[in-house]
Amino acid sequence: MPDTVQKYKDFVITSFLKSVQPIVFEKASGAVVTDVNGREYLDCFAGISVVNAGHNHPQVIAAAKAQMDKVVHCASYIYHCQPTGDLAEKMAQLAPRGLTKTFFGNGGAEAIEGALKLARLYTGKQEFIALQTSFHGRSWGALSVTGNAGRKKRGGPYAPGVAFVPAPYVYRSAWPKDPDECVRQCVRTLEDVIRFSTSGDIAAFIAEPVLGEGGIIVPPKNYFREIKKVLDQHKILFIADEVQSGFARTGKMFAIEHYGVEPDILVTAKGIADGFPLSAFTTRPEIAAAFKPGDHLSTFGGNPVSCAAALANIEVLEKEKLSERSREHGAYVVERLREIQKHTPLIGEVRGLGLMIGIELVKDAALTPAVAEAEAVRDACLRNGLLVGVGGAYGNVVRVQPPLVISRQQLDQALKILENAFRELAGAQVKAAS
Ligand code: PLP
Repeated sequence: MPDTVQKYKDFVITSFLKSVQPIVFEKASGAVVTDVNGREYLDCFAGISVVNAGHNHPQVIAAAKAQMDKVVHCASYIYHCQPTGDLAEKMAQLAPRGLTKTFFGNGGAEAIEGALKLARLYTGKQEFIALQTSFHGRSWGALSVTGNAGRKKRGGPYAPGVAFVPAPYVYRSAWPKDPDECVRQCVRTLEDVIRFSTSGDIAAFIAEPVLGEGGIIVPPKNYFREIKKVLDQHKILFIADEVQSGFARTGKMFAIEHYGVEPDILVTAKGIADGFPLSAFTTRPEIAAAFKPGDHLSTFGGNPVSCAAALANIEVLEKEKLSERSREHGAYVVERLREIQKHTPLIGEVRGLGLMIGIELVKDAALTPAVAEAEAVRDACLRNGLLVGVGGAYGNVVRVQPPLVISRQQLDQALKILENAFRELAGAQVKAAS
């Protein structure tokens, strides 16, 4: 067996994980991943919230294979190919009202870059407002509007003309029991930042409807409605970054639908094609028209195989009612985790929308982030055959974001492993203290 782990060490630029023991995937199906030694893992991270229809969904694979037999690449912005046109039409049907024109790229950051560029060209304005604790990708422009300090510790200075406002992170706000007051203060701060921290030349406000890498922060119900009123007053566009929250992940096709607000530009990636590389930004025709010939292109963007996979993926999401499933399963998991929370002091808060769930771990009443503990929980889960993520602005949030096709029985198994991981950790802490 080739030593893939060693080859990664020697030849791949691995620049992310610190503590987790790498597993080497051999194959995957639904919510189960099998490694090269034949060991199975229950996947509650879905390749960072990507394979919403499950690993290797047969319908998606069949569509991709059929397209591969016809043409793999056509440079979709110079020549045309049917799946790309069909997917753009489908996006126009799915996206919030009025957003009917799409540009396809390959990954989330690329789509964010395109959306930022388009917003500037359309408005003729230069600045942006973004949320603290947000994450929009690893390219320079995307990092420039990323508020999550941990994701941009090195590599600055970033682009000028970006002002940050607090995220509606109710749990860590001064009003943990009063989401309405948290929203009021967020709105007030936005008004202040527009007035005092920008030159008023603001193209767009960018936000994730549910903040993923920031720690699965779910804004209060009225947050975006109140924010949008201020944006409208100042003629500031709203870019919704649904790279992580889109495609049924939160119980709606797009998370912004929970908030009754229509963005001007919708950015998507991850869950769009069940693991095939593809991203998109979708907007109104008059905004799209700000791109003149020669302004924007992506060699691989709108790749026919990825677009064919995306069309099949969306059909699966709709046919298998995966939004409903995400809503029901999500509510169940949150309820069960809140029961576990009752006898686990380490769990500060359980929150989520659909199957986008975060468990924030804290050491004490001052909410000191329990970072090592979150990593220990993830590693214990891994040892016991469960994949979960760890993230958050402070690195202390265990993330549960399984493929939406996961069964109730598999969720029960995952919850049991998680509960045991918390128990094991508590036991180790008691032992260390005695
Ligand atoms: N935007 C959000 C909300 C994300 O969660 C991510 C990735 O995690 C990105 C953008 C960047 O996507 P990618 O890693 O595909 O560039």
